[in-house]
Amino acid sequence: PALPPTSGQHPRGEAPPHIVLLPSAGMGHLVPFTRLAMALLSMGHGCDISIITALPTVSSAESRHLAALFASFPCLRRLDLNLASFDASTSSEFPGADPFYIRYESLRRAVPVLLGPLLINASAFVADIALASVAIPVAKELRVPCYVFFTASATMLAFKAYFPTYLDSNGGGNSIGDIEVPGVYLIPRSSVPQALHDPDNIFTRQFVANGRALTEADGLLANAFDAMEPEAVAALQSAAVVAGLPPVFAVGPLVPVDLRDTGEAAKDEQGSGNSYMAWLYKQPVRSVVYVSFGSRKALAMNQIRELAGGLEASGYRFLWIVKGAVVDREDGAELSDMLGEEFLLRVDGRGFVTKSWVEQDEVLRHPAVGLFVSHCGWNSVTEAARSGVPVLAWPRFADQRVNARVVARCSAALWTERWSWEGEETVVTAEEIAEKVKAAMASVTLTQAAARVRDAAARATADGGTSHRSLAEFVRRCRVGT
Ligand code: UDP
Ligand code: UDP
Repeated sequence: PALPPTSGQHPRGEAPPHIVLLPSAGMGHLVPFTRLAMALLSMGHGCDISIITALPTVSSAESRHLAALFASFPCLRRLDLNLASFDASTSSEFPGADPFYIRYESLRRAVPVLLGPLLINASAFVADIALASVAIPVAKELRVPCYVFFTASATMLAFKAYFPTYLDSNGGGNSIGDIEVPGVYLIPRSSVPQALHDPDNIFTRQFVANGRALTEADGLLANAFDAMEPEAVAALQSAAVVAGLPPVFAVGPLVPVDLRDTGEAAKDEQGSGNSYMAWLYKQPVRSVVYVSFGSRKALAMNQIRELAGGLEASGYRFLWIVKGAVVDREDGAELSDMLGEEFLLRVDGRGFVTKSWVEQDEVLRHPAVGLFVSHCGWNSVTEAARSGVPVLAWPRFADQRVNARVVARCSAALWTERWSWEGEETVVTAEEIAEKVKAAMASVTLTQAAARVRDAAARATADGGTSHRSLAEFVRRCRVGT
């Protein structure tokens, strides 16, 4: 891949600011941190970037991503953080908890002990949201300006900043209702991340501690942009959401990074590299429904079968990424066992079904893709936004219903709010899925709205756009040390 412009000339011969980045666990966090690193490298006079990598990673996808990242961009400094003695997954404290949330916990225990030495010589430090409350005090002690990168939507950031105040006024969190986020809008009870209904849940404890810590940071970065979330960005930048928030920099949607080696990328240009890309190249423009529920969760087996039936009955071509287990290393089931040999034979040619990792951004940028059936993980949303692909939203957990609402408010998503998510019993039937796929594929309104979002996203990150200016201001502050 092309290297971003190197630092070189600096105002008054100053060294570039050295910015240390600390992602947490899961591709949903690592991917936007990588994009932030690249955006910082390519800013005006450049930055000197270190990335702290916690080892071992939870998923293989993360270790492959890190290997490709450091091989492609030798100018990035890698600072390893060995988690061996902080592994919370071996304790009996969190029976049945999500492996990525347990990893957040291991990191949160390691940070107070191991982070300090990694911040020597840092001009600024950027912590992942999941580590905010433990990382900010370490940076403050060393007098290193400390920023928090919120990897999800601005609306979710506003929700998170307000949530502790909501709890305090609501007797501690045993009964969460609809939540009116000041200056933003009402988040109905049904869209509140599942875990937050339980005050003792490991995620809830982290979420509230991190929410309370936001006012202690020197600034907040979000992978969001004004035009897509006008209410939330404005509310965060005024004192509307909660008093005392530091400056908020909306710097998204961050540009995806191509990490493959150039040989492989060149092959794909002709459609002969990855087999799914080769298949996509043979499909007509806007004819394919791309289906993926992200890197974090697997659908229940009965829901997977209904989805198979729905895609088949829709009559459209589809590229479907099937995930059978939460952590990829444990996902051993065969497609034929999950979906049946007959199904695979019936859809052969019209449908491409795989359990492998795909380069999703490349898929979404391909002209053959006409619709994205998505769980609305925020990275997926930003990639669909940049590519102008309409979304059939099917949020599954955490912040995804909040995100689905964001895209639906821009008219770029069709979202059936009563479709179930994790923890609800109802199975969405094949008939319903087929009906919505057909409606979304036929909708000119959706396509036009998605194109408007794409254009607004391109304007935001181009020179002089709102997000570009926010990032430049962030770099300026890193340089002068505020
Ligand atoms: N998140 C948060 N506070 C935390 C941990 C996570 O606000 O302490 C955010 C996170 O950025 C994401 C959402 O809450 O937007 C759900 O978290 P999770 O890590 O499960 O999401 P993922 O990105 O892995 O799907
Ligand atoms: N992703 C990908 N290929 C896959 C699955 C996921 O490239 O097969 C990428 C996707 O493009 C996105 C990230 O992994 O950048 C997933 O983040 P998101 O916030 O969409 O969802 P999560 O996986 O955290 O639920």
